[in-house]
Amino acid sequence: MSLIVQKYGGTSMGSVERIRNVAKRVAKWHAAGHQVVVVPSAMSGETNRLLGLAKEISPRPDAREQDMLAATGEQASSSLLAMALIAMGVPARSYAGWQVAVHTDSAYTKARIKSIDSDRVKGDLDAGRVVIVTGFQGIDDNGNITTLGRGGSDTSAVAIAAAMGAEECLIFTDVDGVYTTDPRVVPEARRMSVVSFEEMFELASLGSKVLQIRSVEFAGKYRVPVRVLSSLTDPEIALEEEKNSGTLITFEEDQKMEAAVVSGIAFSRDEAKFTLRAVPDTPGVAYSILGPIAAANIDVDMILQNLSAQGTTDFSFTVNRIDADRTNELLETQIGPAVGAGEIVFDSKVAKVSIVGIGMRSHAGVASAMFRALSEEGINIQMISTSEIKTSVVIDEKYMELAVRALHKAFELDQEKAQ
Ligand code: ADP
Ligand code: ASP
Ligand code: MG
Repeated sequence: MSLIVQKYGGTSMGSVERIRNVAKRVAKWHAAGHQVVVVPSAMSGETNRLLGLAKEISPRPDAREQDMLAATGEQASSSLLAMALIAMGVPARSYAGWQVAVHTDSAYTKARIKSIDSDRVKGDLDAGRVVIVTGFQGIDDNGNITTLGRGGSDTSAVAIAAAMGAEECLIFTDVDGVYTTDPRVVPEARRMSVVSFEEMFELASLGSKVLQIRSVEFAGKYRVPVRVLSSLTDPEIALEEEKNSGTLITFEEDQKMEAAVVSGIAFSRDEAKFTLRAVPDTPGVAYSILGPIAAANIDVDMILQNLSAQGTTDFSFTVNRIDADRTNELLETQIGPAVGAGEIVFDSKVAKVSIVGIGMRSHAGVASAMFRALSEEGINIQMISTSEIKTSVVIDEKYMELAVRALHKAFELDQEKAQ
């Protein structure tokens, strides 16, 4: 009997009706003889509502207490799903992260999973129950509840699948797979039936919200087969059909080598750009600026340094917008004065747009085709970063959707490809 982990996102759990549909779908897999662990997200809008309440109480809520609060969303949806299953006659039990336990580090609001005890879950599965484990949360070594960052239920699911050696981890969501770009922005986007692990990793890390990046990391590290598929189809859809639907993340890298040079486009509005002007150009300046940022556990994304004729440098970098306030404070109070910077400029109205494709390895001129497509739309590029299989640009936020549409067209992602 194979073990399947199924994750259902916020929209999929968004109402009593939808929770009943999830229960029907789960019951179908259970009735077919599978052991099923379900990892639900909070009902859609709930995590935002809770975080909004926290912000009303305090502009910078205590991180431990914020996690304590945010974790309740998944606890509610998990127990509701268990009730729905039990009402249908399917034995089920829900557990909060700490009951399992899902062990994490203590980085509140963005904790990392360290290990998972699966004995309790196994016991229930062996007794014929469906087991529901709250997504998005865990417990640190001191018994504090932690959360895994926005979108973290994907990571909970893949980590549980890895820890328990599941046959597959099914990520049920409100789209029927991974598309060439977000179909809400480009209606012509096409669903990929398979996407290579490397491409999915880049797409997720560059902003495609369909999977949280850490879930893709876990999938790669433990070789967990992950499939993204729709929770909004008829829950009674034939199992065999459902098993082959959506998008499978494949580890067979060769499979797509002959396919499109660019496979997908990702974008992120979560960027904030800082520029320190007229910094004296001396050895160690980059370290003096970015060392304290790293020490504060803030990830820096793109970096750009421009030398001026006066022997000073303008130093720009981007961070995630959630870290913008803390970065600004560090720059104003500590880093700027220490390095003798002139003006410090903060711009939160930027976005990052990226093209991704493993075919870029073997093709030249892809980045310049990107720059041409953007210039034809009159879009100014503020920063560029490239790696083997992606090119990213930072642009004014107001042109983001235009840029994504233009690039999708320029790289013919709306066209059916001969494989
Ligand atoms: P869930 O609540 O199920 O976790 P999310 O909202 O986190 O769902 O992720 C699904 C959403 O991701 C889709 O509704 C879609 O708008 C967005 N998305 C972004 N990029 C892509 C992509 N390349 N393919 C499919 N969906 C994408
Ligand atoms: N409920 C959490 C969030 O909204 C986790 C998730 O949905 O994956 O970010
Ligand atoms: Mg999500």
